Amino acid sequence: MSGYVPTIGLEVHCELKTETKLFCSCRNKFGSEPNTNTCPVCAGHPGVLPVLNRKAVEYTVRAGCAIGCKISRYSKWDRKNYFYPDLPKAWQTSQYDLPLCTGGEVKITVGGEEKTVRLNRIHLEEDAGKLVHGAGGTAVDYNRCGVPLMECVTEPDMHSADEAVAFLEELASVFRFAGVSDCRMQEGSIRADVNLSMSRPGEPLGTRTETKNLNSFRSVRRAIEAEIRRQTEVLESGGKVVQETRRFDDATGEGYGMRGKEDAQDYRYFPEPDLMPVVLSDDDVGRIRASLPELARDRRKRYTERLGLPAYDAEQLTCDPAVAELFDGAVNAGANAKKAANYVMSEIMRKGKTAGEDGIIVGISGTQLAELLALVDKGEINLVSSRDVLDRIWLTDETPSAAVDALGLRQNNDEGEIEKLVRDIVAANPGPADDFRKGNEKVLSFFVGQLMKATKGKTNPKIAGELVRKVLSE
Ligand SMILES: [Zn+2]
Repeated sequence: MSGYVPTIGLEVHCELKTETKLFCSCRNKFGSEPNTNTCPVCAGHPGVLPVLNRKAVEYTVRAGCAIGCKISRYSKWDRKNYFYPDLPKAWQTSQYDLPLCTGGEVKITVGGEEKTVRLNRIHLEEDAGKLVHGAGGTAVDYNRCGVPLMECVTEPDMHSADEAVAFLEELASVFRFAGVSDCRMQEGSIRADVNLSMSRPGEPLGTRTETKNLNSFRSVRRAIEAEIRRQTEVLESGGKVVQETRRFDDATGEGYGMRGKEDAQDYRYFPEPDLMPVVLSDDDVGRIRASLPELARDRRKRYTERLGLPAYDAEQLTCDPAVAELFDGAVNAGANAKKAANYVMSEIMRKGKTAGEDGIIVGISGTQLAELLALVDKGEINLVSSRDVLDRIWLTDETPSAAVDALGLRQNNDEGEIEKLVRDIVAANPGPADDFRKGNEKVLSFFVGQLMKATKGKTNPKIAGELVRKVLSE
């Protein structure tokens, strides 16, 4: 054992899901044709002036309220100067010494133990464009240029890759439920930089490195593990860790040094002359705080304590705000909590999972789900045909009841009618009927199967089973 312990701090960048960009009216939309969501402001033409998007400030304050930050009543904008092809102005409008939010904390649970990760600050800034490397060279797409970005800086409170990933998952959940960001790793709407140093307990923190731009939870984990191994080897062989900015290559699983670490002075920060400071009143902050929806951890608590659901169900139902909304909507519309939970966790999750994406599509409302479950409960349809109903009403506002009629799925619960059919089937199959009388119980399911086939699955299976037994036992 080396005796070295890692100390980790994260800088997390989260794109806000506003309609438009931070300082212009261009659309903030992922996946558009390159350079179609641009204008002279976000493309950095000379002589243009930025106009602040109030919604972006509101979302950042809401995010800050969700993690218990102190909200600044006065904050301002600064220019962070550097040259790179994805930044046409050659400066990024950011917040330096007076960010919108300071402090705050996120609770994580790792290995059954609860820990607190403190935040230092959240500030608002604009995103840069994207370089697209291809065979013919490198192209630049400015669609992302000027998209509002929250930068969340933690204190160095984490000591393993597990803790860092747990923090990111919790932070993403808070922001998703607060309705400020989709936090989709695959679309790059949440990215993390990892600051890491190694030291022996009781000794001062070691020299840290910063690994930039990790865009999946998996690469955060791998980059941290690789950097712990590398720094430990350097220190154990008597060497010194160099302060630097590093990249992590997902393909090789290795990090490499990129450049010496810049200090703040290298960016020549200075106050942005084209924008007014952001001044918020207590009323503004109170109004934004009141707009904060119920977060995942509060819902989990309510689901287990008030609705009596198992912890596993509560966890599953809060994997995504849309899923939690659907569940709550169904319960509010009168559905039984456990039955609704089961249906959401099986049928809705199966249908809503989109290939290759980290989100889930929820294509029905709580009211539709409650009605669908009621139809199953009353024996109007069975669970199997509820899937056909779900397929039909998905992403429409058709009622389940109308869909059942349109699909001709209403189940036959008429005992007299079913008994008549059972008698016909038993008469037509004297062999298996004889087997039953000789004690072979297994043929019961054969007869139920024949009945279902004859009625295209529309017979109440419970009544069918009882009547088959009754007729065969006569
Ligand atoms: Zn623009």
